[in-house]
Amino acid sequence: MIVIGGGLAGLAAGVALAEAGLRVRLFEKRPFLGGRATSYVLPDGEHVDNCQHVTLGCCTNLEDFYRRAGSADKIKFFDRLVFVDAHGRPGVMHSSWFCPAPFHLSPSFAFFPLLTLRDKLAIARALLAISLGRGHTPDLDEPGGISMLEWLHRHRQTPGAIARFWRVVLVSALDEELERTDARYGVQVFWKAFLANRTGYRMGVPAVPLAELYAGCKAAMERKGGEVLLRAPVRGLRFANGRIAGVQLDDGRVETADAYVLAVPHAALPELLPADLLRSDPALAHIGQLTDAPITGVHFWFDRAVMSEPFLSVLDCTTQWIFNKSALYGADGNANGGQYLQLVISASYDLLPRSRQEIIDLCLAEVRQILPAARDAVLRKATVIKETAATFSPAPGCDRWRPQQQTATPGLFLAGDWTATGWPATMEGAVRSGYLAAEAVLLSAGSPQSFLQPDRPDGGLFKLWKSTASRSRVKWPLRGRT
Ligand SMILES: Cc1cc2nc3c(=O)[nH]c(=O)nc-3n(C[C@H](O)[C@H](O)[C@H](O)COP(=O)(O)OP(=O)(O)OC[C@H]3O[C@@H](n4cnc5c(N)ncnc54)[C@H](O)[C@@H]3O)c2cc1C
Repeated sequence: MIVIGGGLAGLAAGVALAEAGLRVRLFEKRPFLGGRATSYVLPDGEHVDNCQHVTLGCCTNLEDFYRRAGSADKIKFFDRLVFVDAHGRPGVMHSSWFCPAPFHLSPSFAFFPLLTLRDKLAIARALLAISLGRGHTPDLDEPGGISMLEWLHRHRQTPGAIARFWRVVLVSALDEELERTDARYGVQVFWKAFLANRTGYRMGVPAVPLAELYAGCKAAMERKGGEVLLRAPVRGLRFANGRIAGVQLDDGRVETADAYVLAVPHAALPELLPADLLRSDPALAHIGQLTDAPITGVHFWFDRAVMSEPFLSVLDCTTQWIFNKSALYGADGNANGGQYLQLVISASYDLLPRSRQEIIDLCLAEVRQILPAARDAVLRKATVIKETAATFSPAPGCDRWRPQQQTATPGLFLAGDWTATGWPATMEGAVRSGYLAAEAVLLSAGSPQSFLQPDRPDGGLFKLWKSTASRSRVKWPLRGRT
């Protein structure tokens, strides 16, 4: 069994197949595992994440993957989400023990100071529509899909609600502007994370640099006689008589296996597969329609502590999130008595043409406006990491371009956040794709096994309604989805 690519998709496939007893050889072109969700060491010895990555309570497959990798205890979960406006005025959202889902966040939402009453009433109406449809509204079925912005207009959202609520949550979660996001994904985020149950919204943040989460994956594959080869770029798949004859490595060597999981970004496929295969397989012919969206990370090392919260979601600024890496890493992240912050800007199209110094100046001015303690602090060091192709853009109707993990070519399987998972480009989506690829490999080998984890069950009133409906044999009035 050969897996090409050591991102979360390839690792999830590799670990699942190794646990099923297969000997897996994983080829990764870079010197570390984790793909886009990794970290590396700067020339001065500082560990930095490629970008801050967060998970949510609703990401059940990623949770399962961290457990299999032995790194579940390295993710810290938070129940309290703190928002600040450009002047540092805070607003907090958290679950209330006395309110069942979907109303568990309602008390804190009612007192949330950064939205007007009109904004809140509009938001409550739209959230109720999502809840009543259990994650679905009829307008999502329109052919070709509609954009999230269109959906928000149809559901009569105020400009304040769009700018200070929907945009804040969704641009970070989906890495795209609302007018370029399929409303299905936007509605799904709110249903799975904020409405279906009490725990879906809990935010999980790694307490170690990202690359440290994957050591257990290598061990899991090696235990079954497999190997993980780093700095091992695959140059292409070789074909003979319509079947894969092996993978060609840098030194010209060809390695063979019974099955191959190609777990690379969609843009890398044309380098690895013959052009006529990409043209002739209807599932692959349209992957060129997928486009990418950027994320920019800005890293600041201050000479003193300037922030006490572990993270802040920022309204009305270019900066969208500020993560207090020193607090998240504990003693190890003390940054020599100072404080290390990481800022995240998703869908950062406007920043791409700007110089690193311009971005640092812009974000530093915002941080000093938001965090008064930063005004007198000395910025010891700063770095900017621009990821131009951070995720595929969740454009309306893009699901039709995403191929299944099983291909028409015998022995060839695909994995990657961009394959058909129903999820946007996230770590959860990548792990799901890896598990689905592993299931497809085993099914075609005649020994089916399942790895995909179910969604967290609907809780609170949804559970109550469901059991009442089944006891009284009344047909469940709301659309049945999990
Ligand atoms: C800046 C940024 C911030 C993000 N933030 C979040 C977040 O907060 N939460 C979240 O859930 N998701 C986030 N994501 C998305 C998440 O990182 C991705 O969805 C996920 O990591 C994709 O995993 P993957 O395995 O599909 O692809 P990748 O991680 O891209 O893995 C593909 C691997 O294939 C390797 N490869 C490519 N070509 C070859 C070859 N020829 N031979 C061998 N190896 C090859 C690559 O080196 C890479 O390791 C973020 C992404 C970025 C870039």
